[in-house]
Amino acid sequence: MKGKIIILSAPSGTGKSTVIGRLMQIPALRLGFSISATSRKPRGNEQDGREYYFISDEEFRRRVAEGDFVEYEEVYAGTHYGTLKSEVERVTDSGMNLIMDIDVKGGVNVKDIYGDRALSVFLSPPSLEVLERRLRGRATDSEDTIRKRLDKAEYEIGFASRFDLCVVNDDLEETVGKVASAISGFIAE
Ligand code: ADP
Ligand code: 5GP
Repeated sequence: MKGKIIILSAPSGTGKSTVIGRLMQIPALRLGFSISATSRKPRGNEQDGREYYFISDEEFRRRVAEGDFVEYEEVYAGTHYGTLKSEVERVTDSGMNLIMDIDVKGGVNVKDIYGDRALSVFLSPPSLEVLERRLRGRATDSEDTIRKRLDKAEYEIGFASRFDLCVVNDDLEETVGKVASAISGFIAE
């Protein structure tokens, strides 16, 4: 049987990657990460084909035209991110459950596309102050990038009610526990 789809969305810096990293260490959840394509440059020690498929703007546009994406968004001005159809198939055809780190609009779109086959989870920062601290603490983005991400956060938090589940990522262990138990219940359905 094909695997299910788990969507995790949140303002940048809330903790999606951290939480996904922890969830993927739980074998019973059988999670495979959806590697998105992006036109942004690698950050820190990110590797092509691990965190993202890093492609040029031109290649991104070409692949959109060829119909290779399930969905894509210009998440930040001039920077595109998208989920490849081939990626969804690669993971779910093997019976693994696909976990996606995706922006709020993409999260809502993917839930609309897959319906009951998808569980959508919104992670919320405890406050905008904490979010700013986390973005700065990550020390991977320029001041300009941090400002753009903070400016967008309030708008993104407005999407929370359109998700199946909303979890405030305050204490990391509690967050991982809550999301893991929701996924566990969902994949057993
Ligand atoms: P995202 O993937 O949503 O952009 P990250 O997973 O990169 O966010 O997390 C941003 C920063 O916040 C990282 O430095 C991470 O270690 C930290 N972080 C994540 N979750 C928590 C938490 N519950 N408490 C404190 N710091 C956290
Ligand atoms: P970052 O640059 O911090 O890795 O990611 C920026 C934003 O893009 C995050 O909100 C992340 O969830 C989102 N994102 C990553 N991949 C995709 C994707 O395939 N589709 C969409 N719509 N958003 C994505």
